[in-house]
Amino acid sequence: MRVMFTLVLAAVLAACTPLPEPDIDPLAERYVRLSLEIGTHEEGYIDAYYGPPEWKTEAEAHPRSTAELKAAVDALAAELQTARRDLREDELQRRGATLQQYIASARFRLDMIDGARVPFAEEAEKLFGIRPTLRPLTAYDPILARIETLVPGRGALADRVEAARNRYIIPNDRMQEVFDRAIAECRRRTLAHIPLPQNESFTMEFVTDKSWSGYNYYQGQNRSIIQVNTDIPSSIDRAVDLGCHEGYPGHHVQGIYAEKLYRENGWVEYSVAPLFSPQGPLNEGAGNYGVDLAFPGDERLAFERDVLYPLAGLDPATAQSRSELLRAVADLAGARLTIAQMYLDGEINRDRAAELAQKYLLASRERAEQWVRFAEQYRSYVINYSTGQDLIRAYVERAGEDQDARWRAFQSILTQPTLPSDLQ
Ligand SMILES: [Zn+2]
Repeated sequence: MRVMFTLVLAAVLAACTPLPEPDIDPLAERYVRLSLEIGTHEEGYIDAYYGPPEWKTEAEAHPRSTAELKAAVDALAAELQTARRDLREDELQRRGATLQQYIASARFRLDMIDGARVPFAEEAEKLFGIRPTLRPLTAYDPILARIETLVPGRGALADRVEAARNRYIIPNDRMQEVFDRAIAECRRRTLAHIPLPQNESFTMEFVTDKSWSGYNYYQGQNRSIIQVNTDIPSSIDRAVDLGCHEGYPGHHVQGIYAEKLYRENGWVEYSVAPLFSPQGPLNEGAGNYGVDLAFPGDERLAFERDVLYPLAGLDPATAQSRSELLRAVADLAGARLTIAQMYLDGEINRDRAAELAQKYLLASRERAEQWVRFAEQYRSYVINYSTGQDLIRAYVERAGEDQDARWRAFQSILTQPTLPSDLQ
């Protein structure tokens, strides 16, 4: 009887007391360890790692074959799928869904490491969790026509735009000073809205022989190394672009906030940043959109004209017309994706890709070839910049005209697990 009673009570309690939430921390740890192991098969796959150092040592000591890793990733994906069914708290559901897509991206990257190729847009969607909008190149012809009116003259339009760019090169001996000033301004404007830890800092290095123009290597402990490629001379607008994109509120701030999710929430999946992941469009998109957020309206023009031009020894009187030209050129950004798609899907050859890049990106042959090398190296990664920027812009600007509200929306992407689909 007594036994009976206990059993009945246990049954009643089981019906009323919810089961504890499944613990997905061990699954997240497996994801991190697997990512580190995948990194042994592809240089550059691990963009940043600041988790336990022994996990990295262990992953690199006896890396499994890609076939074994694929099986391990599949098993992890299935276990997480099951565990997620019993997650109740919104925050944990969101964490679980995000981790699931990180794992799916890693799984597809393993296929790619083994040579698998799918059409460009599909590759982008599998790696980055968003399908790019690809417009035909003819859609960009009206923008070229508008630019014609801004730089009238003879010869190819790309040459004229390039010549206009070259009039605004930062002299070598002013580079450090101009970049430092621009970065300080991006930091000041970001800090007015987004709290940053006291000890955050970065170092800047000038490098050569890269397919990119700038890169942020987040080191952990709130530090970054920002590299600036000097293969092609930097024009004055590069300073604010780099300061916001690589620094504030871009990649450096993204690194700081991802590390906070890891250290403060204990979510280990944020201790690793694979280069190819659904975080890509968020990071690159927010890096690009960060310029507009930090310098709304004509504030960028005013800052460049009044502060950076004099520092670089350039004529501030021409800042206005140059700014109009750059804005028009920025409207061509989507053409990059279309050219990359045509080239990587085998519709055009390398020469034609460089030719189209010259025409639609209004670049010198040298710059166009640097870009083609970038597309070859990083493939569909190129979508992260403009598709990501469109995504972040639409999401942040849905918060309304108020600048504080926009910064809060921007910050919400940094402070919780977020997938591109969460912002659509
Ligand atoms: Zn970037």
